[in-house]
Amino acid sequence: MQAYDVVIVGASFAGLTLAHHLPKNLRVLVVDAKPEAGSTVESTGLITTKTRNEFESFFDIDAFITNHISSIGVVAPGYDDYFISSVKEPWIFQTDTKGLVKALADRAPSNVTVRTKTVFFGVEDALPVSSVKIQTQGKSLEEIRTRVLVGADGSHSRVAQATGLERNRRFLFGYEQVFFGQVYLGPCPEETIYHFWFGEFSLGYGGWLSPTIVDGHKAFRIGLAKLEKDRGQAKDLIRKFIQELLARKIISIDGEVEKPGYFFGGLIPIGGVLKNISKENVILVGDAAGFCGAFAADGIKGSVISGKEAAGLILRYLQGEPSVFKELPKRMNAHGDIMDYYRRQLCYRWVWDQMCRDETFRAMYDIINTERDTFLEQFCDSKDKKKSLTRTVLKPRHVFRLARYSWLILSDMVRSLFH
Ligand SMILES: Cc1cc2nc3c(=O)[nH]c(=O)nc-3n(C[C@H](O)[C@H](O)[C@H](O)COP(=O)(O)OP(=O)(O)OC[C@H]3O[C@@H](n4cnc5c(N)ncnc54)[C@H](O)[C@@H]3O)c2cc1C
Repeated sequence: MQAYDVVIVGASFAGLTLAHHLPKNLRVLVVDAKPEAGSTVESTGLITTKTRNEFESFFDIDAFITNHISSIGVVAPGYDDYFISSVKEPWIFQTDTKGLVKALADRAPSNVTVRTKTVFFGVEDALPVSSVKIQTQGKSLEEIRTRVLVGADGSHSRVAQATGLERNRRFLFGYEQVFFGQVYLGPCPEETIYHFWFGEFSLGYGGWLSPTIVDGHKAFRIGLAKLEKDRGQAKDLIRKFIQELLARKIISIDGEVEKPGYFFGGLIPIGGVLKNISKENVILVGDAAGFCGAFAADGIKGSVISGKEAAGLILRYLQGEPSVFKELPKRMNAHGDIMDYYRRQLCYRWVWDQMCRDETFRAMYDIINTERDTFLEQFCDSKDKKKSLTRTVLKPRHVFRLARYSWLILSDMVRSLFH
């Protein structure tokens, strides 16, 4: 039976970041069910300045940035209005997700073995060494021994399930298609991402459009996310969404609309950070632990930070500190108060989930539109700490708009009680 110090399930943002940070004298195995690391990545791949900095400390992230985004375009319900809000420096970055994850795997240190086409099936709890069941495609079930097991296996973690740790319970279903083609809305489409706030799309999250470059050609990512219970509607809605944007000449597609370059769907955890994410020699990182913004659905930052911080804790565990994994959230919070960010995200999620009708989204759009000159500033990592979405919106001059918006939310809440 092969023996490792650390077995990581999941060769994506969290698992591979961890693999890069573990001490080089440890024997590390990363397993992933996919044919190749990065062969598909269920993510739009937008990262903030802080996330870029987190990557920069160990990896040449800039080689995988396709677009520097300094504007957001928000499109009102019914497509009848939109505004562009800009900042001077890039606010977020579009990455080449497949290339990025593949390179993270290819450049893993020599003490790390990445085995793809390999599924984790279960673990026999025993200390100090556990026996892990994995199966590589075309081979029989195999048992390997490890001193530490890490669940970096995404929102629907099998490691969490097999070890009795807490599991994510609330999800969005995000669905995205990538096309060669162009976007034509606003002055600098290649530096803009677009959000579409419609009742129909926005029950859950909203529609998005993000220009990118694929294999040196202009392309864009178009997607939407729905609450998991409505996931069955996602494909039809995206078809409708694309047709509408084509008809309005907001996008053009090189090739056939029915044949995107690639597409994917995935579950995004939106229930907040899980409390019970470790036991004895097992720890969860990334989406598996719920480190994802419940409103913004941004999980890459939490995956990278949890991967980095888990590495130090694993070393301390192996040196004889048995309960050290419990420190993970506290240690992560040293990276720009990320746990406080996750708590605020839960509040925004609650408000968003109450809104049902275009009218309500329109009322919110009307308030934010009047603040468009400064709207984007509060989302920048470099922002003045006093700036926040709430402070931007809660101003005396918006009193009538806010009253109307609150009334509409209230009536949405009452309506949903009867549906
Ligand atoms: C449509 C969509 C768009 C998104 N856009 C963004 C964005 O723009 N910015 C952002 O910050 N976040 C975004 N997210 C969220 C972000 O992608 C995730 O938070 C992030 O990918 C989590 O990384 P991870 O390493 O924890 O898990 P994942 O990236 O989910 O990787 C888990 C890995 O584990 C493997 N695995 C799972 N089970 C097993 C098993 N039993 N055996 C072996 N391998 C297994 C999988 O194959 C996978 O490779 C988006 C998510 C979706 C669905």
